Amino acid sequence: MVSTTSFKTAKSEEIFSAAQKLMPGGVSSPVRAFKSVGGQPIVFDHVKGAYIWDVDGNQYIDYVGTWGPAICGHAHPTVIKALHEALEQGTSFGAPCALENVLAEMVIDAVPSIDIVRFVNSGTEACMSVLRLMRAFTGRDKIIKFEGCYHGHADMFLVKAGSGVATLGLPDSPGVPKSATNNTLTAPYNDLETVKKLFAENPDQIAGVILEPVVGNSGFVTPEAGFLEGLREITREHGALLIFDEVMTGFRISYGGAQEKFGVTPDLTTLGKVIGGGLPVGAYGGRADIMSMVAPAGPMYQAGTLSGNPLAMTAGIKTLELLRKPGTYEQLDRITKKLSDGLLKVAKEAGHEVTGGSISAMFGMFFTGQEVHNYNDAKSSDMKKFARFHRGMLERGIYLAPSQFEAGFTSLAHTDEDIDKTLAAAKEVLSAI
Ligand SMILES: *Cc1c(COP(=O)(O)O)cnc(C)c1O
Repeated sequence: MVSTTSFKTAKSEEIFSAAQKLMPGGVSSPVRAFKSVGGQPIVFDHVKGAYIWDVDGNQYIDYVGTWGPAICGHAHPTVIKALHEALEQGTSFGAPCALENVLAEMVIDAVPSIDIVRFVNSGTEACMSVLRLMRAFTGRDKIIKFEGCYHGHADMFLVKAGSGVATLGLPDSPGVPKSATNNTLTAPYNDLETVKKLFAENPDQIAGVILEPVVGNSGFVTPEAGFLEGLREITREHGALLIFDEVMTGFRISYGGAQEKFGVTPDLTTLGKVIGGGLPVGAYGGRADIMSMVAPAGPMYQAGTLSGNPLAMTAGIKTLELLRKPGTYEQLDRITKKLSDGLLKVAKEAGHEVTGGSISAMFGMFFTGQEVHNYNDAKSSDMKKFARFHRGMLERGIYLAPSQFEAGFTSLAHTDEDIDKTLAAAKEVLSAI
C-alpha cells in the first residue's frame, strides 16, 4: 500500500498564498500554478536524482525533471562539482570563453543538421532568433507552424500554441498584435495535405515550416510514418526551410535528437532544456550557408549579454558528457517503456479508455478512447479525470506534469524500484477515480 496519510501541505499553501500577492498568479511561469489540475501547487525545497522534496518534507518521484533539463537526474554530482569549480572563475564574462567552443563542438558533432551554432539563454530566444533567420535567408515573411506545437512565447508563435496557452484556455494572447501573427499560417500536426495547400495558396511567400518533430506540448504526440519526410520534400520543392524545434526533444529522443532518430535532417534546429543541464541555455544552428547570415558573420542581428555564460556552458558540457556514455539511451528507453506500458496496463485494467506511449525518455498518456495524432485529438482526453489522477498521484508521492497537454520525462536516475512504486500508486488511484 502507498500511504497518503503523511501528505501535508501547510507550508506549501502558506508560501504560495504569499507568492500570489507578489507575482502574477504566484508563479514565474504559468503552468506551475496547477490551474488545469486544480488544488495548490507544491513548493519545492530541494531536488536530487529522481526525487523532489517539498517544503513540508514530502518526497516525490519526479516525472517533470524541471521540464526536461534533468535528464541525468537532478543535481548530478559530476555537474555540481564542475559548477563549483567554474564558479571560482567568475559568473559571467560577456567575452569569448573556451567553454563555448567545447559545447559548440559537442552540439555540432551530435546534431546532424548543425554545422554552426549560436548560443542564447532560452528556448524562446532560440525560436525567435531562428524565425528572424528563416525570413532573412529566404527574403519571405510567412511561416507555417502546427496547432498544439509550442515554440516559446514570442508574438509570432502565439497562435494555437499548445500546453501553457491551452491550459489557460487562451487560443491567442491579448497584447499580441494582429500584425505579429498574420504571417503565421497553421496546420494540424501530421497533416501533409494542409501544408501542401498552404504552399499552393501562398506561392514564393513561405519562408519555412517549424515544428516539434515529436510533440511534447499537446501531450506526447508522435509523427506518423512519412510526415517528417513529407515536410522535408515539400519545403525543398518550394525553396523554403525546414526547422525542427528540438528544445524538448534534443538530447532526449536520442543523443542527436529526433532528427537522428527519424533520419530526417532539417535546415535549422533550435535547442534548449537539456543542453543547459539545468542552467539557462538555448541554441540555434544549422547549415553553414544559412548560419553565416547571423551577426557579426552576416547582417542578421541577434545578441545577448549573458549568452555563452561560463556556468551555463559548464552544466551543458557535463550533462552531454554523461549522456554520450554508451548505453544511456537504451537505459532511458527501457525504463520509460516499462513505465509507459505499465501505466496503460493498470489504467485499462481499472476500466479506463487510454492511449499513449513513449520514445526514449519521453512519454504520455491520454484519457481517451481515440488515437491521438494531433492537438484536436488530444483535446478529446478527459481533463477532469486527468486532474483527479494527477492529485491522487501527488498525494502518493508521484510528481507528474500538472497538465494533460504536457509530456512526461524520465531520467538516468530513475530506477526499476521507482517505476514499480509509481505503478503501484497508479493502480490505487486509477481504481479509485
Ligand atoms: C520549452 C520549449 C520552448 C521554450 O523554451 P523556454 O526555455 O521555456 O523559453 C520552445 N520550444 C519547445 C518545443 C519547448 O518545449
